[in-house]
Amino acid sequence: MQSVIGIDKHLKKKIFESLNELVGLVFPNNCLSCDSELSSAEKHFCVHCEMNLNRTYFETYQEPSSLDKLFWGRVKIENTFALYYFNADSPIRKILHELKYQHKERLGVYLGENIGSAINENQKFKDLDALIPVPIHHKKKFIRGYNQSELIAQGLAKQINVPVLKEHVLKTRHTQSQTRKSNIERWENVSNLFKSIDLSGVNHIAIVDDVITTGSTIESLAKEMLNQNKHLKISVISLAFAKS
Ligand SMILES: [Zn+2]
Repeated sequence: MQSVIGIDKHLKKKIFESLNELVGLVFPNNCLSCDSELSSAEKHFCVHCEMNLNRTYFETYQEPSSLDKLFWGRVKIENTFALYYFNADSPIRKILHELKYQHKERLGVYLGENIGSAINENQKFKDLDALIPVPIHHKKKFIRGYNQSELIAQGLAKQINVPVLKEHVLKTRHTQSQTRKSNIERWENVSNLFKSIDLSGVNHIAIVDDVITTGSTIESLAKEMLNQNKHLKISVISLAFAKS
């Protein structure tokens, strides 16, 4: 049964890739955010949208960033990084949506590579042993065909030469959308949500996410990993951060 599912997923991916290429031949390549036609020098976004992507420049910070502070007093996180701020009028909103629901697998890897270029020289991440994408429930992954955080991690891994561990944490429950919940409800919604296995072979890992809002998913995951692995150093790397 396992192999049948495996072939099925592979086939599904192949068909999507071929379709994407076909569509690209018939229709010109358009900006994923504003839909304007791209020049040959532009990749995924037009220059205008690229400029409006609200970069954090956290890689240049000497002082603690707002993302560092988000976890203070909650769970011990070594270092954090996010490439963009997430806000309502930023092109990143549309991009995250495309990434999550529109089968833009290559976009995920590309964005991960951009994170890698930003932090490649950063001492804070020099001793990373592995990247662990925030897992999604296996049913969700089967339906969607991929985990968007895993794609980001793949692109990042290529740039900074660190392996991606995919099977070391599991999401044990399906969760509802967080958007309509109060902070306490959100916390209840995500506590005891993950199962971590033994990570005794690694010292410093980074959890990779697509977007961080309250930080409660990361908090829950990091606490579970630290429970199982007292020695572990955990950092957090995200594509976007919704600063409140
Ligand atoms: Zn654009």
